[in-house]
Amino acid sequence: MKENGHLAHSLLLINALPIRKFVWTAKQVAFSTKKYPDKTTYIKKMAKYKLEYLWLDGYTPVPNVRGKTRIGDYDEFPTLEDLPEWGFDGSSTQQAEGGDSDCILKPVAIYADAGRSGNAALVMCEVMLPDGNPHPSNARANILDDPGAWFGFEQEYFLEQDGRPLGWPETGYPEAQGEYYTGVGYKNVGDIARTIVDEHLDLCLAAGINHEGINAEVAKGQWEFQIFGKGSKNCADQMWVARYLLLRCAEKYGVDVNLHCKPFEGDWNGSGMHCNFSTDKLRDEGGEDYFNSLMDAFEKNREAHIAAYGPDNHMRLTGLHETQSIDKFSWGVADRGASIRVPHSFVNNGYKGYLEDRRPNSQGDPYAIASRVLQTIAEVG
Ligand SMILES: [Mg+2]
Repeated sequence: MKENGHLAHSLLLINALPIRKFVWTAKQVAFSTKKYPDKTTYIKKMAKYKLEYLWLDGYTPVPNVRGKTRIGDYDEFPTLEDLPEWGFDGSSTQQAEGGDSDCILKPVAIYADAGRSGNAALVMCEVMLPDGNPHPSNARANILDDPGAWFGFEQEYFLEQDGRPLGWPETGYPEAQGEYYTGVGYKNVGDIARTIVDEHLDLCLAAGINHEGINAEVAKGQWEFQIFGKGSKNCADQMWVARYLLLRCAEKYGVDVNLHCKPFEGDWNGSGMHCNFSTDKLRDEGGEDYFNSLMDAFEKNREAHIAAYGPDNHMRLTGLHETQSIDKFSWGVADRGASIRVPHSFVNNGYKGYLEDRRPNSQGDPYAIASRVLQTIAEVG
């Protein structure tokens, strides 16, 4: 048999290696013959990889990212199909009872991890039950997806130290908002924040995440980064991994990331995660009639959207600070006080292009947000 011939050939090569003794499992031999199936099959030295398996825990209403490291032997950067499932103790993450605590991690996306020495990767996982079905906390498994649906998320957040945003005084408040947005200078952005956001940017780029930009935001200590992706799962995976990287790289500065949508009452902006979206139809056909039907559907489903757009949004969607009230729906051209902002370019191009839903908040789950948007679009047909 041809395949067995290759297998035998590989085994001969392994046995013939004079110095280094490899202990190969049948699976690794099969892996090698699959990757190098021609007659010149060769053996590369296997290397140790640090694989950080990431998943979302069972906390509500906002899950935490959890991670643990698995060491694996690979001859090159592994692909998803090279990665085994793994287990964890669900009783420690609010995902199982102590008496029956095994949950399964199923790898669904892999990224390079430049934040660690040696060979390292970040492995986004879905949580599965031992019977192979998605765990109830698995918000990714059954969402709507469409590679033609493009998403751009704008993640806003506060960097905090000792329980208050970077640059805030020990008591009271800093100077009123005004110069902080896209600001420069120690009095506006302090001395650590830019180090953190730049390091985060580099980690995302090295990971292959479509990080699209950074800016200092309206409140002091508040920042934003943007992620783009094609397909709801693809974009949301990238966002969760980008959140993880931000949290991890801030650790060594003694800084935490606060994703709550309205950490401070008063005249301080809250944090959103605006969702820019388009589909094949919106980009290629568009048209005013289709746009109006779409906005009707968004208005009709207002409550369902709010339910998917992150907790405590009533604190943020007040009609002030560049938001529409939580109990109203509106759209407007270039209107940052509308629920959905319509770019000038969209109208000028014959109602074609992308739209921006400004209601999702900074703690929202990008899986749920993207899926809700696609659900409403699907209703219009
Ligand atoms: Mg912003």
